[in-house]
Amino acid sequence: MAVTDKTAGRHGISAFILEKGTPGFFPGKKENKLGLRASDTSTVVFEDCRIPKDNLLGEPGHGFIDAMKVLDGGRISIAALGIGMAQGAYEAALHYSQQRKQFGKPISDFQAIQFKLADMATEIDAARLLIHRAAWMKDNGMKTTKESSMAKLYAGEVAVRVANECVQIHGGYGYIKDYPAEKYYRDVKLCTIGEGTSEIQRMVIARELLRP
Ligand SMILES: Cc1cc2nc3c(=O)[nH]c(=O)nc-3n(C[C@H](O)[C@H](O)[C@H](O)COP(=O)(O)OP(=O)(O)OC[C@H]3O[C@@H](n4cnc5c(N)ncnc54)[C@H](O)[C@@H]3O)c2cc1C
Repeated sequence: MAVTDKTAGRHGISAFILEKGTPGFFPGKKENKLGLRASDTSTVVFEDCRIPKDNLLGEPGHGFIDAMKVLDGGRISIAALGIGMAQGAYEAALHYSQQRKQFGKPISDFQAIQFKLADMATEIDAARLLIHRAAWMKDNGMKTTKESSMAKLYAGEVAVRVANECVQIHGGYGYIKDYPAEKYYRDVKLCTIGEGTSEIQRMVIARELLRP
C-alpha cells in the first residue's frame, strides 16, 4: 500500500504488487513470538523502494477500500483457525479427562469437569455455526462485514476460553510441554489480536448495527 494522493484521505491509498528482490524491499527481523512459532512473522521494510506504475493492483485510490473487503474474508479464515485450535484443545481435554484418575475414578466422572466439557463443546458449536453463516454468505456473493466480525470475535474468544479450560483440566500437566495443552493456550491468543483485535471487531459490529 502507498499513499498516492495525500489530499484524498482513505481514497488516496493504492495497492501495488511487489516482487521479492525489488531493491529497497526486504524483511525485518524474525519476531520472537508467544505462540504459532512454526509460522515466521516479521515486519517488511520499504526503503527508497521504487516500483513501476504497472504494478498497481486494482484501481488507483482503491487500496484501502479493497483491503477492508479482503478483511471481511480474512476474518472468516481467522475464525476458522481459532475454532480448529479450540476443537483440538477440547478433544485433548476430553481424552485426558477420561484417562486421568483421581480419588479412584476418571476425572471426567466429576461434575466440575463435565460442566467444563459441556461449556467447551457448546461454545465451539455456536462459534462454528457463526463461521458457517459468514462463509455461506460470502460464497453467495453477499456483504459479510458484520457477520465476519461476529464470527471472528466469538470464535477467537471461545478459542481462548477453551484453551484455558484445556490447561485447567490437565492440571499440572497442562503447564508442561509434554502435553499439547500449553501450546494450544499460547497459539490461540493470536485469534483475539490478528486480523483486527476483539475491540475492533466490536466497533465494526456496532457500526453496522447503528448504520442508518
Ligand atoms: C503473529 C502476528 C501476525 C501478524 N500478521 C500480520 C500480517 O500478516 N499482516 C498484517 O498486516 N498484520 C499482521 N499482524 C498485525 C495485527 O493485525 C495487529 O497486531 C492487530 O491488528 C492489532 O493492531 P496493533 O498491534 O497495532 O494494536 P493497537 O492498535 O496498538 O492496539 C492496542 C490495544 O488497543 C486497542 N485499541 C486500538 N484502537 C482502539 C479503538 N479505537 N478503540 C478501542 N480499543 C482500541 C486494541 O484493541 C488493543 O487492545 C500480525 C500480528 C501478529 C501478532
